[in-house]
Amino acid sequence: MEISKIKAFNATMDSFIEQLLPELEEIYKDLHQNPELSMEEFRTAKIAADYLTQCQFEVSTGIGITGVVGVLRNGKGPVVMLRADMDALPVTENTGLPYASTKIARDEEGVEVGVSHVCGHDLHVTWLMGIARLFSEHKELWKGTLMAVFQPGEEVGRGAQSMVDDGMLERFPKPDIILGQHVMVGEAGTVGYRSGAILAAGNSLKVKLFGRGGHGSQPQTTVDPVVMAAATTLRLQTIVSREVAPIENAVLTVGALQAGTKENIIPEDATLKLNIRTFDEGVKNQILSAVKRICCAECAASNAPREPEFTELSSYPLTENDALATARVAGAFEAQFGDKSYETKPASGSEDFSVFGRNWHVPYVFWFVGGTDPVLYLEAKKNNQLNAIPSNHSPMFAPVIHPTLKTGLQAMMTAAAAWLN
Ligand SMILES: [Zn+2]
Ligand SMILES: [Zn+2]
Repeated sequence: MEISKIKAFNATMDSFIEQLLPELEEIYKDLHQNPELSMEEFRTAKIAADYLTQCQFEVSTGIGITGVVGVLRNGKGPVVMLRADMDALPVTENTGLPYASTKIARDEEGVEVGVSHVCGHDLHVTWLMGIARLFSEHKELWKGTLMAVFQPGEEVGRGAQSMVDDGMLERFPKPDIILGQHVMVGEAGTVGYRSGAILAAGNSLKVKLFGRGGHGSQPQTTVDPVVMAAATTLRLQTIVSREVAPIENAVLTVGALQAGTKENIIPEDATLKLNIRTFDEGVKNQILSAVKRICCAECAASNAPREPEFTELSSYPLTENDALATARVAGAFEAQFGDKSYETKPASGSEDFSVFGRNWHVPYVFWFVGGTDPVLYLEAKKNNQLNAIPSNHSPMFAPVIHPTLKTGLQAMMTAAAAWLN
């Protein structure tokens, strides 16, 4: 649709959105109180699938374990794929909200953990369900094919890939555009878009360093992996500071360093766990190869009996919005939101959203929807306290339902309309 038509389309849809909000608020609170860990989103998936069926979508379930795809064909026109992630996090919620989660579950290691939607994926699911209803009940306003995708396991970086591996590309129509959105700290009622990299690539590795254990009093009979790990950790910090160009952005964090059990035993090995965030494919590859080079060189310098072992813990690709498609979304946002839509800076978080676009070789656009109480947000901004607002993954993360619920619906609706006839 052209901008003038999008404006008319939005104006018509606006009253339908208002009517739908009470129902969606109930759905949101229910999802919020019933969060499920990554790749175990069975209840959430069923709620989404049943709702899509009610809305006359052709529904497929169990894709990549819990993934749901709904297709709504409505005449000739582009195929628009909309994606929502469904999983919650192993965090005990501490928002004090009347609808806060009190759920407890066992994580992959069998440890009992609190579970909550502190990344806001419950809102993503609610938004997409709402969009499905709006488009299915008002087919006279648009033409084309709408594909609603509910994805598992975003927080573990496996969900999108598991759907692709389960035949997603062969089983469903190839989209002309893939759209996704995330609730973030930001003034509620606003949307932030960006051409190019909007979210970082994230790579996590485990590196096991091998020494030779022995008595703490006889280091000459050993190869000390503690010293090896310490030297490696320090040297790894020279990658970003000394090898990456200063105009590039990158982070390398050694978040875990484990070795030994007792003060007078030199252990056999040590383990580092590290996390890397980058905004450029070349920089990412440069850092990954520097990590390997430094780890191997430090082991050789320590006379290690064998080379270190590298295990990938997770890998999130760069989320890099297509320039032309982003311009189209930005134009539609401008028509809908005026100065409440803005060009945002990239965020150092990561997403597996782009896995669909990368595998299908189609453009994708991802944007942020502000979820912070506007009064609170503007007050914090005025006092230079924005970093004090609990961010996604904090036990205190609590987006306000109004107007966030409506803004997300409008954003996704207007972006989809920019492609549909
Ligand atoms: Zn998250
Ligand atoms: Zn998230």
